[in-house]
Formats: sequence, structure tokens, C-alpha cells
Amino acid sequence: MSTDQPSKPLRISMTHLGAAGWEITDGRTIVLLDPFPSRIRYKGKAFGNTDAPSYPGDHRPVYGLDDPVYSDIEEIDRRIRGAHYVLVSHSHFNHCMDVPYIARKYGSKVIGSGSTANIMAAYGVPDAQIYAVHGGQDYQFPELSVRVVPSLHSPLAERHYFDGDAVPRNLKVPMRLGEFAEGGTFAYLLRIGGRQILMFGSMNFIEREVEGLRPDAALVAAGKARLHLYDYTGRLLRALGHPKLVVATHWDVQAAPYGAPQDDALAQAGTFVEEVRRTSPQARVVLPRHFETVVLEPDE
Ligand SMILES: [Zn+2]
Repeated sequence: MSTDQPSKPLRISMTHLGAAGWEITDGRTIVLLDPFPSRIRYKGKAFGNTDAPSYPGDHRPVYGLDDPVYSDIEEIDRRIRGAHYVLVSHSHFNHCMDVPYIARKYGSKVIGSGSTANIMAAYGVPDAQIYAVHGGQDYQFPELSVRVVPSLHSPLAERHYFDGDAVPRNLKVPMRLGEFAEGGTFAYLLRIGGRQILMFGSMNFIEREVEGLRPDAALVAAGKARLHLYDYTGRLLRALGHPKLVVATHWDVQAAPYGAPQDDALAQAGTFVEEVRRTSPQARVVLPRHFETVVLEPDE
């Protein structure tokens, strides 16, 4: 396949998979970010969250930090149609735990931290599919290029969040929920089909690392943890030169199954939409529901 980018941009489709998950395609190549169809119920404070909410009819198991966790294979098979590449923002379970199954099933190339790489290897993803990065890499692949942008995790637990741990090599599987350490956090600048899409999987960024990037679209994490950061939305959009398309991500209650009410989370994310409108009045801003596809048209 040619490394040339098309002279006219292709139509880019971005489908929200819930949590921080996305499927992005130019009609030729499928790229996933942080796919998490399992949406497991969990309890424990290590991730800054309260215990899993319960919904009528949701009889799924609740995982504690010491419990081995298992992907919901049926749900993944139902929701994921392919993956040439999987980008992983960090190795917490809700970004990483479903990636080994997907990567093995589709032969996907997986890009992520050393911790992400160790998880992939432990679950039997072949080394040839694993790309461990530190941040700062700008890799050219045949169908696309991807710049790994050093970033930061959401300031969960009222800014008390800290996870300096890494996932070791040669760990035993199945992993326990609490073993999915952060391992460092990245954003990704994906260049595909003549477009640039900047993707975040967590509510934070390093201003100097994004300053001067000029993406056509930015997927910006919109959970309420962002409110613990100084002028999160304003600083980010100004540093990026006001992208013309801004899409909210990571806004939902991710322990709730697909189809459960998300009214409170949507109302909260609506305040992010207002922040974007105040900062970048010319931008198109989208708060996507699960499996909604946001399209970047060639003439847009
Ligand atoms: Zn996390």
C-alpha cells in the first residue's frame, strides 16, 4: 500500500464506542482507540470512582480490585467489526482490558505504553503486533501515521488521584482488576485519509505538548474530572488553534451497560459543550451517544 496521502481528503467516520472508545475509518483502514465494550461493573476506590451503579435487569458480576477480570466476548464480537490498529491511551482496565482479544482476533497493530505492551504480551498478542512507545514518537505506517503525544491522566478523586505504577512483564493472566496500572498516559495525533485527528482518552493534557498542533478534529475527554483543572477547555482549544470539529468523549457512566440511562452524564457533558461554544464559537461541537457516527466530510 502507498504511503502517499490522498490529494483530496477522504470521508472520515468516527463512531463512539462508549467510555473513551472510538472506531475511526477512512473507508479503507479501521483504527480503534481504547475500545471497551465489556463495560464491566466494578467496585473499589483505586480508580477514583464510587461503586458500580446498579440498573434494573443488570445481573452482571461486580468485580473487586482483587478479582480476576474477563472480557465480555459476546459484546466485543457484537460491537467491533475489525481493527487494523488499536491505540491505547493508558493501561487502566477500562482502556486496555478488551484490547488483547481484539488484537488477537483481527491481527491488529497495538500502540501503547510499556505497560500496555506487557499486558498484550501476557495475553498472547504476538510481538510483531506490539509497538511500545514512550511518547514523542511519530510513526509512519503504510496506511497512516501517528504521533504519540505525552499526556496526563484525569485528576480523579478530587485531584488526589496518583498512579505511578507500571504493569510488569511476565504477569499471570487473567489479570486482577487492580493490576491494570496506569503506566503513563498518551494522546494520539492520527493522520489518516488526508486528515489529522487528535484523540484523548483522559481528562487532562500537557499544554506545551499540544501547542501548535492543528488537528481537523479533536476528541476531547469531557467527564467532570476536567473541572479540577484550570481552564481545561479554553487552554486546550486555544493551544490547538481552535479545531473546526470538537467531539466530546469519555463522558458516560462506563460501568453501566449499553442502553442504560445516561441522563446525568449527558447533562454534565452538556456543560463541556457550552465551554467549547464559548471558547471556539466557529467550531462544530458534538456530544455523541453510544454508536453515533460523527463524519468529517471531504469538503468540510
Ligand atoms: Zn484511567
